[in-house]
Parts: sequence; C-alpha cells; structure tokens
Amino acid sequence: MGNIWKKTFVLSLMIVLGVFLTSASAGTIEKIKERGALIAGVKDAVIPFGYIDAETNQLVGFDIDICRAIAKNLGVELKLKPVTSATRIPMLAQGSIDLAAATMTHKFAREDSIDFSITYFMDGQKILVKKDSGIKSVADLAGKKVGTSKGSTSEKNIKEAQPECNVLSFEGYPQAFLALRQGKVSAVTTDSGILVGLKNSAPDPEDYVIVGDFIAAEPYGLGLPENDSDFRDLVNRTLVDLWNTGEYLKIYNKWFGPKTNFYLPLTWKMEIWPY
Ligand code: GLU
Repeated sequence: MGNIWKKTFVLSLMIVLGVFLTSASAGTIEKIKERGALIAGVKDAVIPFGYIDAETNQLVGFDIDICRAIAKNLGVELKLKPVTSATRIPMLAQGSIDLAAATMTHKFAREDSIDFSITYFMDGQKILVKKDSGIKSVADLAGKKVGTSKGSTSEKNIKEAQPECNVLSFEGYPQAFLALRQGKVSAVTTDSGILVGLKNSAPDPEDYVIVGDFIAAEPYGLGLPENDSDFRDLVNRTLVDLWNTGEYLKIYNKWFGPKTNFYLPLTWKMEIWPY
C-alpha cells in the first residue's frame, strides 16, 4: 500500500472510530436535544395516569403531565410511546424510550438494568371487589382467583399477602377488571389509585368497593436509563422544582383532587433536596 493510501486508510479509520465513540458515549440529554424530542414510555389504558381521552383521542393523564414538564425543561417536544407493566423496563433498557412514566414502583429488584428518579407519586396496593361479594380483605381471598397485570409488583405482593389465592395475570388492568365484571375472578389487585380509576370510570361504580388495608407500599419512580447521572439529575431537579413551585400540586389536583372523579388525598411529601 502506498504511503498516501496508508495515511488515508488510518485517517478514515480514526474518523469512523471517532464517530462511533461519540455516539456511544452521547448522554441521554444530548440525544434528546439532537432529536428535538423526549420519548416517554407511558401507559395508555390506566385511568387517570395514562389513557386515551375519548373526546380528543389524545393520550392524557397524570404521568403524561409529569413528562410534559420534563420535556419543557429540556426545551423539546414530547413524544409518547405506550408501554405495559411487562414491556416498560426492556424498552427503556434497549433505548427505545428515554424514560418511563408508567405507574412504576421503584424497587431494588428493578434496578438491574435501569435507574429511577426520586419518588414522584406514593401509593399502596389494595383489592377491588364486587360490593355484594362479602369479601372484606385479602384474608377472604383464600382459594379465590385474583386478577392483576403481567409484569406488576402486584403479582408477587398478593401471593405474599394471601398464599392461598390463585393469581391470574392479564395483559393490563382493563382486562383484569373485565374478568371481575364477568365473575371470572373475585378481585382485582393493584395500587389504590389505579383501582379508583377502574372503579370510577366504570358505568356502575356503586357496584364495586376497594377494601382492606394496604398490603404493600408502592412508591413510584420514573424509570431512567442505567448509569446516566446527568439525565437523572435533570429529572430529579425538575421534580423538586415542580414540588417547590406548587406546579406538582396543580397537576396532582387536576387528576386526583377532591373535584375529580378519582379523589386520592395527598398524604405524602416529595423528598426535597436543597438547591
Ligand atoms: N406500581 C405497580 C408496579 O409497578 C403496579 C402498577 C403497574 O403494574 O404499573 O408494578
């Protein structure tokens, strides 16, 4: 190979390698800004966290408003991708979404391939049953079928709280609730906010009740890409700002306030770090 060719070859190799290394090490913030959009994974059938508004046909909800605030802070538009309880972690780990705002409980067992923000919503797990079923708590679920969503914490928690029950995992919560309506399961179990959403968006909410004590604590975190502390800092800072400015309360009350159909008293405080 002539000298000039050798030089050209080495130079091209360096350029290719350079491009590869920069793109491989480009952080989530840079990727989002370059794209001009934050891609958020959200639920699309969990009222009032993430669902399709029947009138506007738009994806709306509490989780979506939280994402909107993060996109605004980044100065980019918001793009939404539907996720389920089972797909949100793999989608985030593979990079097909930048974050997951999807009713997701932050637990150590979920830390292997992703990271989490600080807690941005606090809930606990309960059961929803038919009013005339006579079921008062998980103690009454021995030998009974209980529906929940595939990939949720609820699958495991209910088994721990009531080892004698039979857990049926559905694609999502609407399917589990349909099974309850049809008498195929005796209860639906998940976080109380989701249960309130199922019950109060049904045509006959008075026929259903949420009963018993909380069987598990469910602190929600935004799912974030593993090992990107710049992005994690930005997201946490946005959450703290939302809380401090009162914007969080506005969003919360819009979806869970006393004037809504899904009233859930705000009984916890965000972990606030000083600036
Ligand atoms: N918060 C629970 C979880 O992350 C239940 C709700 C859900 O399935 O998203 O598994």
